[in-house]
Amino acid sequence: MPELPEVEGVVRELAPAVEGKVIKNVEFSSTVYESCAEGKQCIVKNIEPSYFEEAMQEMLIKKVKRRSKYIYFDVEKNHQSFIFVNHLGMTGAWFVVQSLDEIHEAKFRKHVHAIFTLNSGELLVFSDIRRFGEMRLLSTLEEHLPLLEMAPEPFESSACNFFLAKCELPKYQNKPVKEVIMDGQVISGCGNIYATEALFKMGIHPARKVSRISKERKIKLFETIRDILHESIENGGSTISDYRNINGEAGGMQHRLKMYGKKQCPTCGSITKSLTIGGRTSVYCPQCQH
Ligand SMILES: [Zn+2]
Repeated sequence: MPELPEVEGVVRELAPAVEGKVIKNVEFSSTVYESCAEGKQCIVKNIEPSYFEEAMQEMLIKKVKRRSKYIYFDVEKNHQSFIFVNHLGMTGAWFVVQSLDEIHEAKFRKHVHAIFTLNSGELLVFSDIRRFGEMRLLSTLEEHLPLLEMAPEPFESSACNFFLAKCELPKYQNKPVKEVIMDGQVISGCGNIYATEALFKMGIHPARKVSRISKERKIKLFETIRDILHESIENGGSTISDYRNINGEAGGMQHRLKMYGKKQCPTCGSITKSLTIGGRTSVYCPQCQH
């Protein structure tokens, strides 16, 4: 699943490719239409796909930016502003191409679910193999409350104190630290990969309760998460399964991971163990993490 660094990578490539361009037409796959007719709302979440297609015509893409793991497209039509919000889900990917043949990997070509034709003649294509991606067209962020409840960006100066304050709340105090740091209302954008890496680097067992970690260590843990997210952005994100940037390229951070997906600890050589925490598999070293 793309985490903050992977989404940042997508936005950094998408922004210069589409900003200033106008959406002339939007076309969804038959899967999107059929699921909507069955009441399942695949990918297009808050409005009917046909209404979305119509609403997006002649929309100017003013800015593309990231907030946590979401992509925000600031768009405008007839002097009215909207926010087109996208979440990549498990396997969502954007491509900017002249024709669908330019999407080299068959699995992405096969799972195209939205094609935005731009005034430049290019196609802005959303492909999603597992179809957990989401699209919403909003007038304001207040229309989708989870967007307002997200923790500050981890690179903002307020983010560490926000994290410390959340840890003091009764609802988090007795939870495993890994579950807490992966909660987007506590820290923005830290998913399974980077939570696993940060806890290993800090020598903290993923199931340790938040209340059993000192304030000083919590601050160091926060800084470690922030630094790993930054390192991953610099390395183009991690390509674990189906993440691609808009040119269909894979990131390089997966080669720098020390614990996520590892069978053996790179520090002490112990066989790693895994636990399910918060519904996610958590790999750790039983010798190095307490
Ligand atoms: Zn170890």
